[in-house]
Amino acid sequence: MSTYTIISPVTEKPVQELHLADVAETDATIAKAQKAFESWRLVTPGDRAKLLRKFAAIVDAHNEELAQLEVLNSGHTIGNARWEAGNVRDVLNYYSAAPERLFGRQIPVPNGIDITFKEPLGVIGIIVPWNFPMPIAGWGFGPALAAGNTVVLKPAELTPLTAIRLGELALEAGIPEGVFNVIPGKGSVVGDRFVTHPLVRKIVFTGSTGVGKQIMRGCADQVKRLTLELGGKSANIIFADADIEKAAAGAPGAVFDNAGQDCCARSRILIQRSAYDKFMELFEGAVKKFRVEDPSLDTAEMGPLISKVQFDRVSEFLPSGSPIAFQGNKPEGAGYWFAPTVLTPKDSNDRAYREEIFGPVVSVLPFEDEADAIRIANDSEYGLSGSIWSRDIGRAVRVSRAVEAGNLSVNSNSSVRYWTPFGGYKQSGLGRELGPDALDAFTETKNVFFDTQV
Ligand code: NAD
Repeated sequence: MSTYTIISPVTEKPVQELHLADVAETDATIAKAQKAFESWRLVTPGDRAKLLRKFAAIVDAHNEELAQLEVLNSGHTIGNARWEAGNVRDVLNYYSAAPERLFGRQIPVPNGIDITFKEPLGVIGIIVPWNFPMPIAGWGFGPALAAGNTVVLKPAELTPLTAIRLGELALEAGIPEGVFNVIPGKGSVVGDRFVTHPLVRKIVFTGSTGVGKQIMRGCADQVKRLTLELGGKSANIIFADADIEKAAAGAPGAVFDNAGQDCCARSRILIQRSAYDKFMELFEGAVKKFRVEDPSLDTAEMGPLISKVQFDRVSEFLPSGSPIAFQGNKPEGAGYWFAPTVLTPKDSNDRAYREEIFGPVVSVLPFEDEADAIRIANDSEYGLSGSIWSRDIGRAVRVSRAVEAGNLSVNSNSSVRYWTPFGGYKQSGLGRELGPDALDAFTETKNVFFDTQV
C-alpha cells in the first residue's frame, strides 16, 4: 500500500499521512462513476441546478474551514485561500444556471425537422496541479457536473486536502454517491489510468507543458477529448504614456502572488525605454514593501514555495552572477521562503527570461516602440496571459489584438473571471475553461433529423 506524507511548506513538518490509490482502486472508482452517470444524466435540469446551488451554499458555509486547510496544506496566504474557496462557490453558482439553459438548435431543413442536442460525455477525468488546488478543480467539476457528466478528480500529490473535503461537501449537499469522486494518487498511476481507461471520455488537465504533451499523446489512442491548461511566461507591457505609478504598484502582485506559482504570472516586464528609470525606481520601492510572511496573517501578500523540490528548482534559475537588480524580503527560519527577485538580463536569451520558473522571479527588459514590444512579447513558446499599460486607447486595442495570448488585461493585471473564457495560445494550452463556452467542452453536439413526410 502506497502512502504520502503531506508536509507544511511553512513549518516543514508533516501534516497528514495519506493513502494513494492504485490502479485497481482507480478502476473501481471509474466503474462507480460510470454507473452513477446512468442516473445523473437523467436527473431533471431543475433538480440538477438545485443540487449544484446547494453544493455552492455548503462550500460557502465552509469557506473559512477550506481556506484554513489550504493555508495548512499549500502555504497560500489566508486572503488568497478565502478567495479560492469563494471561487469554487461562484463557479458552482454560475454553472447551476446551465442545466436549464443547455440549448440545442432547430435548423431549417426540407421534409422534416432538424434538432441538435447537447449530450453529456460520460465520466470526465480531471487532473489538478498543486498551485491552485481549489479553483482549478472547480473550473473542471462545476461545468462538467452541470452538463450531466460524472467526475473522477485527481488532486496533485502535494495538495489533496481541500479537494478531498470538497468531495465530502458534495455528498453533504445531496449530490448522489459516485457522481463526484476524488481519488488522491500519483500522476503516473491514477492520472495515467484516466488517460488509458476507455470509460473516461474526456481529460481536463492543468499542469506542466511536458506532462500535458504526454497526456495528449496518450489521449490520441482513443481519440479522447482533452482540455489542456499548461505553462506560461506572460508579459507585462508598460508604455511610457501609461500611469507608471499604478503599473509599478501593481507589478509585484502580478508576478509574486502565490509566490509566483501561477500560470498567469506576469514574469516578463517589458518597459518602454524612455520610462525605464522612473519605473524601476517605483518598482523597487513596491517590491521592498511586498509582505512575505506567515501566510495565516491577514497582512500576508506572499507565502513560501510549495516544497523543497520547488525551492531547489527555482534556485537553479539564479546561479551566481545572475543579473539581480534587487530583491524583496523574506522571513528567516523554517519554511520554503524565497525572496521576490528582480532580474535585468542583457537580452532575451537568458534562461530565466525565457523559461517558466514558477517562483517569485521576474525579468525586466526595455523596448523601443510598439512594434518592438509586440515582437518581444510574442517571442515565447507560451501564450497564456499578459497586461498592457497605456493611456492611448488605440494603442491598447492594437497591442491587445496583436499579443498572442488567451487572457489579457489593459491597465489592470486581473484577467481571470469565472464568467469569461480562460485558456492559452500556443504551448500554453488547448481549449477554454470557464465562461459561457466551457459547457461545449463537456458535451457532444448530437444532430437528429425527424422525417415529417412519413
Ligand atoms: P505537473 O504537470 O507535474 O502535475 C500536474 C498534475 O498532473 C498532478 O496532479 C500530477 O500528479 C499529474 N501528473 C503527473 N504526471 C502525470 C502523468 N504521466 N499522467 C497523468 N497525470 C500526471 O505540474 P505541477 O508541477 O503540479 O504544476 C505546475 C505546472 O502547472 C506549471 O507548469 C504551471 O504553469 C501549470 N499550470 C497551468 C495552469 C493553466 O491554467 N494554464 C494553471 C495552473 C498551473
